[in-house]
Parts: sequence; C-alpha cells; structure tokens
Amino acid sequence: MQALRYHGRRDLRVEDLEQSPLEADSVRVDVDSCGICGSDLHEYAAGPIFVPEGEPHPVSGDVAPIRMGHEFSGTVSEVGDDVGDLAVGDNVAINPILYCGDCRQCNEGNYHICDSIGFLGLSGGDGGFAENVVVKAEQAVPLLDGVPLEHGALVEPLSVGLHAVRRSGVQAGDTVAVFGSGPIGLSVIQCLRAAGAGTIYVSEPREARRNRAVDCGADETIDPTETDAVEYISDATGGGVDVAFEVAGIEATYKAALQSTRPSGTTAIVSIWEGEVASHPNNIVLGERTITGTLAYLGGPRSGEEYGMVIKMLADGDLDPEALITDRIGLEDIVDDGFESLLDAESDQVKILVKP
Ligand SMILES: [Zn+2]
Ligand SMILES: [Zn+2]
Repeated sequence: MQALRYHGRRDLRVEDLEQSPLEADSVRVDVDSCGICGSDLHEYAAGPIFVPEGEPHPVSGDVAPIRMGHEFSGTVSEVGDDVGDLAVGDNVAINPILYCGDCRQCNEGNYHICDSIGFLGLSGGDGGFAENVVVKAEQAVPLLDGVPLEHGALVEPLSVGLHAVRRSGVQAGDTVAVFGSGPIGLSVIQCLRAAGAGTIYVSEPREARRNRAVDCGADETIDPTETDAVEYISDATGGGVDVAFEVAGIEATYKAALQSTRPSGTTAIVSIWEGEVASHPNNIVLGERTITGTLAYLGGPRSGEEYGMVIKMLADGDLDPEALITDRIGLEDIVDDGFESLLDAESDQVKILVKP
C-alpha cells in the first residue's frame, strides 16, 4: 500500500508500506481525500514540531518516520468485531485527535486540550496520505446524505473554525475582524457568517486570499501592506470590532488583532506559534479586553459534537468547502505539486486535496 511518511525536515517519502492490522475496536477506511494543512507545511519546512522524534508520543507510541495526513475522508471497508455502529460502505470523516483518557482535562471531557494531545498523521498512527488507514471507530464520524465524500476532508479545518467562533463568544450582529485568510481564516469567516456575525473585516496581504475571503462571506478586505488595518477598522467601527481573530501567527497580526478590538471586546488567538511576541499588557488592561486561546475542536468519545455540527452545516448548505479547495492531486505528486506549491509565496493555492 502506498503511503506518505515524514522522515524529517524536507524529507517526505511516498513508500510501499504494510497496511495496518484491523483491531476489534477499529475500522479500516479507504481514503478518498486528504487535505494538506498549514501544520503539515510547518513540519516539512521547519519541523519536527508535533512529529515525535527520539521519544515516542505518549498516546500513539510512535516515533518518526510517521505516516502523515490528518484532514481526511473515506469509505469504511472493514469493521472490527466490537464495532456496532459502523458498516462497510459508510462514508466518514476522520476526527484525528489523540488523547490519553486519563488526565484532568480528559476526565472533564475536554479531550482536545489533553495533557498529551496529539493528532493522527502528525503524532503517529495512520495518516490520511495513504490508500487506506485503520482508526478507532469513535474517530470515524459518519457523513450525512448529500455531503460529498470529498468534502469530508474539509470537516477538520472547518471544525477548527467552528470551535474558534464558539470559543470567542461572538454574538449575532457583532462586528468582527479576521487577520489572515488561509484555510483556517477562511473557515473562521464561513462559520462567522453562519453564526450571524455583523460586518466582517479581513486583513490579508495576498490578493487571491482576499478574493477567497469575499467568497466566504467577508464584507470588507484590507491589504495590510498598503493600508493600516488597525486605523481602518477603528475608523470604520467607531473604535474597534467586538471580536477579532488572529489566524496568521506573526507578531504584526497579534498586535493588530488586539489593537483592532474595542474596549471590553475579545481577541481570539487561533494560530500555533513558533516563538514569542512582544506586546504591551496595557493593550489588554486599559480597555478591559479579553484574549482567549482556541485549539482544535472537541474530540474523543464526544467526537461527533463539533464534527457533527460541521457535517450538519455542510448538509444544510451553511458552509461552502469548494471556496477553499484550489487543487486536487495524486499521492505521487504530493511533494512537488502539494507541499512545494503551497510554500511558494507567489502561489494562489489555499487547500490542496490529495487523492491517494
Ligand atoms: Zn490541520
Ligand atoms: Zn488526557
């Protein structure tokens, strides 16, 4: 079976590997589509970050080289003996969260902030850049009728957006700013639109991504290389938006998101950071602003929760995965036409789906 493994920085290999054995509590899924994510790019260009090296990951027990890919959908082709609620032929989206089941957060049902949090396809286990995978049955979330199998690969990034919107406490009618409109920024915008947000401002330097932001529901876009986004948003809103989302992961957008939030407003930080940023605490204190971190989406035995919401929203037409997809490629082309293409600063790519 062909699968992609991460051997180290700038070292991804499509290899002929043994397929994983089926366990009693697991299902085998023939992969239809797997998206390349920003975290995959970070691992490739600057990793390993989430990929365990030396020490095995405490939940997966795996260490590099690991099988990559965590945003995927497919069709159940084999069912373990103890699995009652899935059948061969079911179309599913995979919830890739790995959790220990034993820490304080897990005991409270917050598996997505487990002390040992990990992701299939980043921290070990079977990743989706493969012809087939074996996953725990609870990780295979059935798609509803009418949701194309391919769109199942977008449930993961859309769930990140939905969780961020829910965590932020945004209310219908609130004004919002989104800093960065890559795949997660676009997911946030779509979920904000679905949640009834008021005017949505988007700051994004790449023109193609600003256009995508409009397709996803942004009202106004700003090119921060030409316009001071904080000034523009402050003027347009009379002193700042109710909620700002930071989805770019650089110091400039961290500061801008905070400064474009009105006093008493909330700034939600969605990015994962490579290092520290400098910011004056008075930005928070003097306006009694709130900063909230938001990570992934609910997983574990409650995996249906936010995944299920996104799948329902897809079935109802509240979200538009096509607005994110820019290319579809074969597994053999994944490095050149996938990873390298997304890393090219001139490229207009947003979400590339790999069809193993
Ligand atoms: Zn991802
Ligand atoms: Zn845990």
